[in-house]
Amino acid sequence: MSTSTQHSMQELASLVEKCNRCGFCQAGCPTYKSTGLEWQVSRGRVALVRNILEGRIELQEDDVREALGTCLRCAACTTHCPPQVPTAEIVEKAIEQLVQIKGMPWVQRVVFRGVLPNKGLLDTSGKAVWFAQATGLQGAARSLGLTKLLGSDAHRAQDILPKLGSKTARQLLPSMMRPIPNRKYRVAYFIGCGTDLVFPELAMATVRVLYANSTEVLVPNVVDCGKPPTAYGDMESARKLARTNIDVLFGMDVDAIVSDCATCGSMIREYPKLFANDEQYLEKAKAVAAMMKDVSEFLAAIEFNDRLGDLKTTVTYHDPCHLVRYQKVSAQPRKLLKSIPGLEFKEAVEADMCCGGAGSFFLTHYDLSKKVLARKMGNVSKTGANFLATGCPGCMMQLSSGVKQHDLPIQVIHTIQLLDQAYSMAK
Ligand code: SF4
Ligand code: SF4
Repeated sequence: MSTSTQHSMQELASLVEKCNRCGFCQAGCPTYKSTGLEWQVSRGRVALVRNILEGRIELQEDDVREALGTCLRCAACTTHCPPQVPTAEIVEKAIEQLVQIKGMPWVQRVVFRGVLPNKGLLDTSGKAVWFAQATGLQGAARSLGLTKLLGSDAHRAQDILPKLGSKTARQLLPSMMRPIPNRKYRVAYFIGCGTDLVFPELAMATVRVLYANSTEVLVPNVVDCGKPPTAYGDMESARKLARTNIDVLFGMDVDAIVSDCATCGSMIREYPKLFANDEQYLEKAKAVAAMMKDVSEFLAAIEFNDRLGDLKTTVTYHDPCHLVRYQKVSAQPRKLLKSIPGLEFKEAVEADMCCGGAGSFFLTHYDLSKKVLARKMGNVSKTGANFLATGCPGCMMQLSSGVKQHDLPIQVIHTIQLLDQAYSMAK
């Protein structure tokens, strides 16, 4: 066993031994609530890792991989756990070890090491999907079984991806960039891949809302935040992407780095963890992480422009896990929504419970993802709201598919897009 593997195992052991087996985590775990299975709750997953560390079972065994792979890493268990066992982190570290032992499937290797670091290639991939959707080739690929190449449930989950536009946010934004008279703030806008490729209209709304708040917007040339490889245990790729982003963001003359993607924001705040053993990057990573703010957090902290028009509608809100637990941002989006005149806010039961999207979880565990989503949809529909607002493009995709599947008369929207609508209605 290499020294770094030994070190990681020791770290894992110290996290695992905090669990006292009380079972309070059952109250917060979406996979346990959906299945009732002990190996799908924090206590069961931590017990598996303890057994691996004590040599009773092998990390590579299929059952173990399934128990770890079905963890959404939503961190809800930790909020219910008296000794604060960080199960999401334990699972992440165990999967990292698994990748070191078994290697990575070739598709993931190509995506994480070839496509994500290369913005041009990523845009081309987005264009290819747009072309396939626009021409019907997506259906042809499905009937030929080509999408099964992506593995597990990917061929069933492709309908979750909304129709892509022909232009990315980065292609659309330059035409609307302008100087800000009486500028009060300047921010670097971190455009995540989801916003860039899937929801370019969200990027435009974000820039308009920032402009309405006397904020100049710079759009740095960043790459993927690094979350996808982290989720699959490929920390080497995550560090490579993070280094590129840190090189671009460090030292920018801005008041904050903002993002409208909960996942990107949480990942950037975690950059220092990636560089714990890298003196050259650790300090820069800390500086960049300290500048990171969710766009709702930024707006709620500044002198907010409250000249908003009326939106006579009802809105409920879904807390993305990467916002509410990883960044501790939950009051700010609610405060912004409630500031819109005419808008009636309706809190949903379990608003902070994971929607089952969890990055690409819906691609790998389609059925479980849908079960978790069904619970969310039930709670949302009880509010009777017209809009379901949230703060993450990944959640937007998952929730939109849920609304469609459950035939609910609700539109999924980003908090910023509702603010943008309200500004456009101002007299
Ligand atoms: S609540 Fe925490 S300490 Fe208790 S069983 Fe669950 S993970 Fe272990
Ligand atoms: S991180 Fe989420 S899915 Fe995983 S054990 Fe904890 S509550 Fe359950």
